Amino acid sequence: MENIRCLIIGGGPAGYTAAIYASRANLSPVLYEGLQPGGQLTTTTDIENYPGFENGISGQGLMDTMKAQAVRLGADIRNGIVTSADLSSRPFRIVVDGDKEIAAESIVIATGATAKYLGLPSEEKFRGMGVSACATCDGFFYRKKDVAVVGGGDTACEEASYLAGICKKVYMIVRRDVLRASVAMQEKVKNTPNIEILWNCNTQEILGDQSGVTGVRILRKDGEVFNIAVDGFFLAIGHHPNSELFSKWVNVNGEGYIITEDKTSRTNVEGVFAAGDVQDPLYRQAVTAAASGCRAAMDVEKYLNSLKQY
Ligand code: NDP
Repeated sequence: MENIRCLIIGGGPAGYTAAIYASRANLSPVLYEGLQPGGQLTTTTDIENYPGFENGISGQGLMDTMKAQAVRLGADIRNGIVTSADLSSRPFRIVVDGDKEIAAESIVIATGATAKYLGLPSEEKFRGMGVSACATCDGFFYRKKDVAVVGGGDTACEEASYLAGICKKVYMIVRRDVLRASVAMQEKVKNTPNIEILWNCNTQEILGDQSGVTGVRILRKDGEVFNIAVDGFFLAIGHHPNSELFSKWVNVNGEGYIITEDKTSRTNVEGVFAAGDVQDPLYRQAVTAAASGCRAAMDVEKYLNSLKQY
């Protein structure tokens, strides 16, 4: 079994930043990147609101740079998915890829969040055949075609705007008569001629054949049911935190977000810290995730130092 002083789980902005700080503090961090190295940002196009990049930077570019910085400073960044965790006593027992066992003195959980789906059988049936939760990954396939985006938040507006630049027409399926998105994003979609917002509408079924999605059956609040013809169906209805592996030991809120103490990254389990979207139901930005990764590494350093004193 391998012994690790500072184990960081998750390769997004929170994890990489924790690795940068932990490396500089000589904590010999080991980071497992998980299923999606680089995290959710690798599925976005340009990031214009991450400070320090006057002309913006691509999501993948930002993540590659953060990772390279962590590696240069000495972090051991590895491919691998944590498949089970036992946080009942120290050192904590972690299993990677089903067979590699690790004993960790401290852990930073930075496993992020995953896109939500509506839960319709037809959505499952056409997943990867026209149903997607990432416009920037898959939008390219719908050049000059008609598509639909579900949701009314910032993500939905961003994805609709992005798709409007590629596709012929973009329908936004919005379940209320208002958008949840920021005013700037609302204005943007409302002023884009090839975006049509379908207010008070819910998706009843995704229609298709062996070639994939061909349309959506929609139920409006007034009871009217109608179909729209689309080739792509994009979900943008929020995310759920990837905390399942740890929630037996670590306190989570009603939505599954890990609860941290006050302004720290400390969880209720001494020696286990959380950073990034897995503990942030509110801000969920790359820059706030990075900042929380910094806090987590500093908290780990303090914790490991406190162990030495006894
Ligand atoms: P949000 O939770 O903000 O919005 C989710 C949207 O999906 C809401 O409009 C919601 O409707 C709708 N929705 C939820 N469940 C369903 C359902 N079952 N059927 C139909 N519609 C549904 O998630 P986002 O991912 O948009 O944003 C998350 C956070 O990230 C926010 O804080 C946002 O501001 C931020 N963000 C910031 C960006 C930026 O600054 N550039 C870009 C993207 C996100 P309802 O409103 O009725 O609840």
